[in-house]
Amino acid sequence: MNCFPESLEKLIAELSKLPGVGPKTAQRLAFHILEQKNNGAERLASALVTAAEKLDECPVCFHIAEEGHCALCDDDSRDNSVICVVESPRDVLPIERSGSFHGRYHILGGLLSPMDGIGPTELHIRELLKRLENEEVKEVILATGSNVEGEATAAYLADLLKPLGLVVTRIAQGMPVGGDLEYIDEITLAKALAGRREF
Ligand SMILES: [Zn+2]
Repeated sequence: MNCFPESLEKLIAELSKLPGVGPKTAQRLAFHILEQKNNGAERLASALVTAAEKLDECPVCFHIAEEGHCALCDDDSRDNSVICVVESPRDVLPIERSGSFHGRYHILGGLLSPMDGIGPTELHIRELLKRLENEEVKEVILATGSNVEGEATAAYLADLLKPLGLVVTRIAQGMPVGGDLEYIDEITLAKALAGRREF
């Protein structure tokens, strides 16, 4: 038997679906949200709904955008001759924080993983090829993680892109083996970008 009203149980159940949140933390968060003053719960709910409704993928690079192109694609001061290919929008922030890259991005939307049924057509690879056709790109940096899928995806892309006459580089130095870009500190990432090598 549940000891809380249905609406509270529902809130706890939804919160416990968040990454790293177990049932106890979900319960604590639910109480914290409900005890907020000045309509805190309503403001949180409305922020969630607005974000879910407004946020979309940038039609060019597939980064998170709000109506149309993302802020990075809209920034005219960025270098059009280099595209940094990453797994997800979460990888953009640490690279931006490193301050070592001023080119464009392309988000794959995942990594190749035949075991999970993720092949090249499930990723934004076709769109990357189209960009390379239409934009004046000289270098593509493959900045996927150094786990098995990240390496396999980078190797696949290198084979695909090198015949196009581009410089294809891979971030390497400083990347911990099995590391996710999202969790790497700025200095390590800056070194990894500086020490990238040609595939
Ligand atoms: Zn974009």
